[in-house]
Amino acid sequence: MVSRVGFGCIPIQRRSREDAAALLRRAVDSGVNFFDTAHVYGDSEAKLGLAFSGLPRGELILASKAMADTREKTMSQLEESLRRLRTDYIDLYQWHNPAGLDDFREGGVYRAMLEAKKAGKIRFIGITNHHLARAGRAVESGAFDTLQFPLSVLSSREEIGLTFRCRELDLGFIAMKAMCGGMIPDGRLPFAFLNQYPHIVPVWGIEREEELAQFIELAGRPEPFTPAMREEIEKLRLELGDEYCRGCGYCLPCPAGIELPLMMRIAYFVKRNVEGSQFNEDRLRQVAKIDDCVNCRGCVEHCPYHLEAPRILRKQRDEFNRLRREFHALKGRSINNLYMFRQGTESRQ
Ligand code: SF4
Ligand code: SF4
Repeated sequence: MVSRVGFGCIPIQRRSREDAAALLRRAVDSGVNFFDTAHVYGDSEAKLGLAFSGLPRGELILASKAMADTREKTMSQLEESLRRLRTDYIDLYQWHNPAGLDDFREGGVYRAMLEAKKAGKIRFIGITNHHLARAGRAVESGAFDTLQFPLSVLSSREEIGLTFRCRELDLGFIAMKAMCGGMIPDGRLPFAFLNQYPHIVPVWGIEREEELAQFIELAGRPEPFTPAMREEIEKLRLELGDEYCRGCGYCLPCPAGIELPLMMRIAYFVKRNVEGSQFNEDRLRQVAKIDDCVNCRGCVEHCPYHLEAPRILRKQRDEFNRLRREFHALKGRSINNLYMFRQGTESRQ
């Protein structure tokens, strides 16, 4: 059994080794036992290994992933993950967002995982995916113990339905991107939303002590999902429309060097926290790069949500520049009220 709070280990890449290890140990002390990382998450696995060396291995449930397309790559990534994690087995080993499911053949990824399971190097086999149809096929295949899939307040009825299908088939459902890839800055609303579904386990990307503390508190004293929260979600849904980028990064690399996951949402982030540092030189340079798009459409092809990235990027750039002009024009007024001003609610200033 995993703890209700799963710890997503992408953000610890941004902490120093010592700080990340302290945060991870604090999570364990707070009752978290489920940690989800991946071979491709930079030094995340090594930080877990450092944090947990010396702790009773049986009390931790470690999940990692292989982003591979052959038996050899799977095996070599697994061996490296075991070494970095300083362990001789991984509880849940996941096939990391495959583009197809036709690799059950001899010499393929899935067979390699079965072999590793037989050898006692992994306990369970899971899959992660961002495509609803592909995730559905994986669930129906009967090959996997778990599915990890994006689930948030913005999920569709079909996506929520998939969680119930997993329950019917006794598959663990691990919810990722519950904070909508950073579009929701606070854990309260997503936690209350997902708590309506006790048959799923969310993994929260945690970088700071205060974020950990909030999730632990919410798990200990869950708040009900209220009509006011539902209204908030509807507002967000309207604002984002069908151009909602999850920040997953599968569209990278971009030949023009555009940082798509950030640039696809840059105006939203600025609106949520309008301050001078949002318009510093680095940021202006990143936004100006959008002009270098050569319309190769590689990003559109690779985006699991088929987002029209070149068009959305231009829109975000224009909105960003408009906000910047407003920011400079309004200097001297309360910066924090700028967004409200933009929304036409000057009376609240
Ligand atoms: S279409 Fe533009 S943004 Fe997308 S990958 Fe090509 S150059 Fe980059
Ligand atoms: S454009 Fe698509 S692939 Fe790229 S970060 Fe956004 S959702 Fe992910």
